[in-house]
Amino acid sequence: MAYDSNNIFAKILRGEIPCTKVYEDEHTLAFMDIMPQAEGHTLVITKEHAETILDLSPAAAAAWIHTVQKVAKAVKKAMGVDGFVLMQLNGVAAGQSVPHVHFHILPTSLGTLMTRAHGAQMGDLQQIQGYAEKIKAELAK
Ligand code: AMP
Repeated sequence: MAYDSNNIFAKILRGEIPCTKVYEDEHTLAFMDIMPQAEGHTLVITKEHAETILDLSPAAAAAWIHTVQKVAKAVKKAMGVDGFVLMQLNGVAAGQSVPHVHFHILPTSLGTLMTRAHGAQMGDLQQIQGYAEKIKAELAK
């Protein structure tokens, strides 16, 4: 299916709507999920337009994983957890709700994650901002 450039992450990339950014480079952007399934729930997206991982160029995929690793390390430290879940949904059939490829970094366990509905409830924006500051501080080290 053709990429929908009106999806919410494309709008964030164009600066048309705000996000709580924690990291950005030439190829990727990381920001806080506004309907978190865990405290510190962070998203990493590519700047290349792609709906799913299958639509992404190998170079963009490599840059994306590089950022996921960097940001996940900071999220783990900032949130003081021993483990985290990476989640990545491809296609409506899998439950993907935003058609721009992204990784979820979830500093929680799979068991806890499964008790929380996906993208269902707005988080506390002040609390989310506080987690973002901690993550950014770790990234700056
Ligand atoms: P998925 O269902 O895998 O496509 O995940 C999309 C994620 O984007 C969900 O976890 C939503 O909570 C999150 N989300 C939707 N809109 C925004 C937004 N404007 N800013 C940050 N996260 C968002």
